[in-house]
Amino acid sequence: MKEHLKSPVFKTIAQVADENGNEAYVIGGFVRDLILKRPTTDIDVVVVGSGIDLAREVAKELGGLKVSVFKNFGTAMFKYRGMDIEFVGARKESYQRNSRKPIVEDGTLEDDQNRRDFTINAMALSLNEKSFGELVDPFGGLKDLEEGVIRTPLDPMVTFSDDPLRILRAIRFATQLGFRIEDKTYEGIVAQKDRLQIISMERVAEELNKMMMSERPSLGFKLLEKTGLLPMILPELQDMKGVEKVRGIGHKDNFYHTLEVLDQLVPYSDDLWLRWAALLHDIAKPRTKRFDPKLGWTFHAHNFVGMKMVPKIFKRLRLPQNDKMKFVQKMVELHMRPIVLSEDEVTDSAVRRLLFEAGDDIDSLMTLCEADITSKNEVKVRKFLRNFKLVRQKLKEIEEKDRVRNFQPPVSGEEVMKTFNLPPCQTVGEIKSAIKEAILEGEIHNDYDEARAFMLRKGKEMGLKS
Ligand code: ATP
Repeated sequence: MKEHLKSPVFKTIAQVADENGNEAYVIGGFVRDLILKRPTTDIDVVVVGSGIDLAREVAKELGGLKVSVFKNFGTAMFKYRGMDIEFVGARKESYQRNSRKPIVEDGTLEDDQNRRDFTINAMALSLNEKSFGELVDPFGGLKDLEEGVIRTPLDPMVTFSDDPLRILRAIRFATQLGFRIEDKTYEGIVAQKDRLQIISMERVAEELNKMMMSERPSLGFKLLEKTGLLPMILPELQDMKGVEKVRGIGHKDNFYHTLEVLDQLVPYSDDLWLRWAALLHDIAKPRTKRFDPKLGWTFHAHNFVGMKMVPKIFKRLRLPQNDKMKFVQKMVELHMRPIVLSEDEVTDSAVRRLLFEAGDDIDSLMTLCEADITSKNEVKVRKFLRNFKLVRQKLKEIEEKDRVRNFQPPVSGEEVMKTFNLPPCQTVGEIKSAIKEAILEGEIHNDYDEARAFMLRKGKEMGLKS
């Protein structure tokens, strides 16, 4: 492994550690990612001794780098050539039932490896000169990495009960790396799932977001569902699973449909919030589901009901209550619009209205809608995609012509008031919205002169004097 430790920082650590008679190692995620050839910028160094002292001395050797010290945690870090290098003393941990914060004492490398969550995260590379680059892998992490297995180093029952965040980390790593969770480890997750209650929702959301940003987020949500964790985290998503039948007529399983949409979106957008929108676009289907003898299954207004469910879900998961959430709401609300457009004849006014409502988020909305096509019927899929192309083209044409994407009324309320000598009142609003409607319907262009002429006509109709 020597050849992987090329950065001069490792040589410097080796020198300083040797001089002080300390053992030093790089450990954990950095070693895992090095072997997997995944890019990383976080380096964790463990020393049998004081991490803070070692960090200070190495930083001095490297030309007096600034060290941030976290006394309470016994850690120190500095930045070096774009990398965050963190130093910590090897430690032994013991846990109490009601907290995931362990009691910590100084320990050996072995103690430190024993406290790690998974075999693939417990490997260390020696940094001392005599053994520079040698792998210390007591639990067969390398083999698990090669075989694609997530496994706890010690008894999974204890590992997961001690710190239940590891349950989510197991699922998250399985998702990110496309690994299988080893049987005993899987059983441990299922057996200890109720321990998740002691984990803060912020941490849960952090893990969910990492799953969301992986290549195949569906893997994570399927695992959450299979292990029985999903009802504790996103019961609304759990409710989407299953197919109901009336008179032999079923509907599609909206849980699997949703996950397919999410996976299909991945290659086209790395916007976390658009991915959330994909996860939640049909979230109100269970609540709005009805069987109509004539129409079959309907999910009337599920986009509106869904949009209203978003803030509650975001609040529970401690996700931001800001414009990101509003964006997700907007996507959920509008997610059926382009498809309806593409099914009917695409009229200019329908396109103009969509542009007006979606504003700058129109491209995201189109991307989401294209991912929403999950039919098994290839002819149908091709037809939809063709129509979407047409809608996109129309959107472009109309936007160039009418610029309604970020609509600003061409005639202001003040001008309406001045022209008709009106105080601020409902009539002003009515005239303004009549102008907007006329533009969206294509009766007039989004243009000052046309809008002013329209306003004068409208005022006359309403019996106003200009
Ligand atoms: P990522 O950067 O993708 O989150 P990582 O493995 O580098 O992956 P960190 O959270 O930075 O994750 O953790 C670094 C290392 O610390 C891990 O590789 C693992 O050895 C150990 N670790 C982190 N969290 C835990 C935990 N909850 N229980 C046990 N060991 C942990």
